[in-house]
Amino acid sequence: MHEFVINLHMHTPYSDGHRTHTEIAHAAIKAGIDAVIVTDHNVWVDGPSGYYHDGDRHVLMLIGEEIHDQSRDPQKNHLLVFGVNREMATFAHDPQHLIDKVSQAGGLTFIAHPTDPAAPAFNEPDISWVDWNVKDYTGIELWNAMSEFKSLLKSKAHAVFYAFFPKLIARGPLNTTMQKWDELLANSHKVVAIGGSDAHALPGRLGPIHKTLFPYEFHFQCVNTHLLTNDPLTGDGTHDQTLILEALRNGHAFIGYDLPARTEGFRFSASGDENTARMGDEITLKNGVTLQIRLPRRTECHLLKNGSIVKTWHKREHCTYITNEPGVYRVEVYIHYLGGRRGWIFSNPIYVRE
Ligand SMILES: [Zn+2]
Ligand SMILES: [Zn+2]
Repeated sequence: MHEFVINLHMHTPYSDGHRTHTEIAHAAIKAGIDAVIVTDHNVWVDGPSGYYHDGDRHVLMLIGEEIHDQSRDPQKNHLLVFGVNREMATFAHDPQHLIDKVSQAGGLTFIAHPTDPAAPAFNEPDISWVDWNVKDYTGIELWNAMSEFKSLLKSKAHAVFYAFFPKLIARGPLNTTMQKWDELLANSHKVVAIGGSDAHALPGRLGPIHKTLFPYEFHFQCVNTHLLTNDPLTGDGTHDQTLILEALRNGHAFIGYDLPARTEGFRFSASGDENTARMGDEITLKNGVTLQIRLPRRTECHLLKNGSIVKTWHKREHCTYITNEPGVYRVEVYIHYLGGRRGWIFSNPIYVRE
């Protein structure tokens, strides 16, 4: 099995980001990740996709789009669209219509920042997703680094503090988003979880001090989505784009907060009488299923079934659990970093069916 690291959801000057596609690619190469998906607001940018090189290192850039109805007030319901390779913002007026149109075109849809609280000190409105009656989307952006930052902006002083100490921000997906995900999963359909940075590299000015808030290089070391595939990346843009999109579509992925310690090597799998499953897959119960977890570092690990913890391990590298009950099983891992307990790994579920 092959694992690679992608960072997704970011903006360029085509919308409200502050670095170009080329600058983003070079930041990604520096951070050592394999691919990025750039998603400008309501514009699909034709041209910059493909591999970028720096010496013998390279990164693949894919171009998606973040779409919402700009005539809506407030401008809620942001949808990340991947893999269509043409403009889809013309369908923004109706989220379900947009989701359907993207599916018909073979693309993927993820509900962006499902919970995105207001930050009144900065006149930033709540731009959460509200139309929860939509269906047939691929998944949700479980952990959005910017929503988490926004949730901490109680005052301008808080903003200044976190602008200078960004490593203190990340704790994990917002509780309301986690609860929503479990609620959606309980309705017995697959909902793939991804982590996004929502990078903008906003220029901040605090009196005489100029500072870029969260440069892309910083984001690329933080909340990443790790993908598992049977085949390796080959360096061919078209082939590798398909590989990445299929792993995302199937939820063969976990979210890793790579700043405290790299999360590569995490695995969550299941084996039953007749078949095996990896994150994102279904498996039939039959005579019981063995769930296996492998951690890249000995720390605090929880196995959850239908949103509730069924087993916790401390300081174990390999964790095993045998079940005879159907349900949606997923893993959360926590780590201590800079004086706090922080979310480190959030797996996609394995769906154990009767
Ligand atoms: Zn957004
Ligand atoms: Zn965004």
